[in-house]
Amino acid sequence: MALEENKKASAPAKKRFYRKRVKLFNLIDKIKLWPSRTGSLHGIRTIEVMGDKARLTTHCNKVFIISNSLNSRAARWLRNKWFVRVCPDCRVPDWKLEKYSSTLFRRHQGSTLTNG
Ligand SMILES: [Zn+2]
Repeated sequence: MALEENKKASAPAKKRFYRKRVKLFNLIDKIKLWPSRTGSLHGIRTIEVMGDKARLTTHCNKVFIISNSLNSRAARWLRNKWFVRVCPDCRVPDWKLEKYSSTLFRRHQGSTLTNG
């Protein structure tokens, strides 16, 4: 945490680009955030991929089973950064939210986050 804060102080938030078609599971594994149906943005503690489904465990101990769909509600919300509030129980640190807000999704630019 201290390290992250030092980095933040020395350089402004760097913009990150991800492809719009990035795999949802890879994206969640990277940003560790999940917008629930009620609009709470949760911090993800673990993601267990089981075929085309994944089990997300949040820091507030909620479990979500999600499917790897690019067109799902959550995938859209994640890309558009739609959420009503940040879950108070997950205690998502500010630097993580800053990193998320500086992440952009482009059709032709950025990482696809595939593991080769
Ligand atoms: Zn939560």
